[in-house]
Amino acid sequence: MIIGFDYDGTLVDSYSVIEEAFIHALEKHYSWLPFKGLWAKILTRIELYFERPKFGKKRHKGKISQPFFFKLKFSRTWFDERAKLTKPIDDSKELIRKLKEEGHVVISFSAEDFIDGMKEYRLRLNGFYDLFDDVIIFGREVTLSEALCLVREKYGDEIFLWVDDKPWRFVGRGDENTEYVWYYFPITSKYAEEKALEQIPRLHIIRDLWSIFDVIKNVESSRGIIDKA
Ligand SMILES: [Mg+2]
Repeated sequence: MIIGFDYDGTLVDSYSVIEEAFIHALEKHYSWLPFKGLWAKILTRIELYFERPKFGKKRHKGKISQPFFFKLKFSRTWFDERAKLTKPIDDSKELIRKLKEEGHVVISFSAEDFIDGMKEYRLRLNGFYDLFDDVIIFGREVTLSEALCLVREKYGDEIFLWVDDKPWRFVGRGDENTEYVWYYFPITSKYAEEKALEQIPRLHIIRDLWSIFDVIKNVESSRGIIDKA
């Protein structure tokens, strides 16, 4: 199978460190500013607002330009600090290795950050980039739909297991050979609406990344695929 993993909130927890990263960035660029803790809380709320489905839809449909705020040095520092504090979820690096060992094609399939090239930079910094067979980044030059076409062009019509903590991305996307795996990440899960979930066929929900092996087994048996091993 082809297995595509989203990054933030799926393979790594880069969410619970958002506030701390803001404090570090404020200390670096605005050391004179009082109440940094409070400012960090406010900025965290703003950042999390952009994680909602409404905003995501707009982001991945078109090719949008970089918002002004993210051109500031402060933002770059924040991304950097966030990357340094990021931690893998459920020993995800080992999981990628195991899936490859079993003969699956494992790709990184995630959205670009607000700063061009930042996703690749973070994947490399956190030691994930070279673990993948391929890295596909959408949301900027490439829309999400175009990225899905790219997966088919490169890897054919094999079953594509799409793993993401934002299930609303699945709505109306993919093809009959796509299986949708929602990795339930507490921080982003609260934005998932029942209405959206009902529209997703072949939706699998996992709360532990290693349950992906159960999903693979279920998909194989429901589609009548015989295990070659
Ligand atoms: Mg994510």
